[in-house]
Amino acid sequence: MRFECNGCGTPCCAVRDGEEKKIMLFPEEVAFLEQQAIALNKTKFAVIEDLIFPDTLNKIILVGAYRLYLERYPSCDFMRPDNHYCQIQELLGLDQKPLVCRAYPIAIKTIDATTKEYFLDTGCPYIEEHIAVYAGIKNFKTVPEIEAYLRENFPVEFLAANQIINRLSWIPLRLRQLEQEGKIRVPDEFSAEAWSDALATWDRKDLIPDGA
Ligand code: SF4
Ligand code: SF4
Repeated sequence: MRFECNGCGTPCCAVRDGEEKKIMLFPEEVAFLEQQAIALNKTKFAVIEDLIFPDTLNKIILVGAYRLYLERYPSCDFMRPDNHYCQIQELLGLDQKPLVCRAYPIAIKTIDATTKEYFLDTGCPYIEEHIAVYAGIKNFKTVPEIEAYLRENFPVEFLAANQIINRLSWIPLRLRQLEQEGKIRVPDEFSAEAWSDALATWDRKDLIPDGA
């Protein structure tokens, strides 16, 4: 059962009733989308920091990822209101969309620093319609079995999901490297008061891999 987005008209890039939705964006994707927002005169593209680290050596907050600020604007400004199509995809192509958008309806949940979980978002009607088929995924016992299934049935989405995992894994490696070089210090413990002060007064710096 190979997944095909059928353009069902469900606004999958918007918050629906009572739903908690997170659309994560890496800093380089935010920079790209901000340029597109200017070019397309989109005034409601807003993001908020989502994955942050305090660098106490330089008094800077390092930003590993953002998310769409859906509490302020409940849908992505690039989603066409008439048919819910993504204008980034329409105008620039699928591979210009952010990774989480390319991976959808595969979503990734971070359990801890080293454990991530894939799941299929039943908010997508296609998945809901075929839930009995996709429920078969629970019968797989090993990670390679699950991955082979996802690769076969969600080839584009699974590729993007893996790119997300790799991109997320780069962040702690980069932090460790910068610490070893003596360029930053990210403490294991950082109190709520220290966070409150840092968030209000420290500058921000995006964590972006070379060439991204
Ligand atoms: S909800 Fe699913 S089927 Fe509908 S437009 Fe979004 S990805 Fe496509
Ligand atoms: S960039 Fe496109 S696919 Fe991603 S949230 Fe916005 S409208 Fe949806």
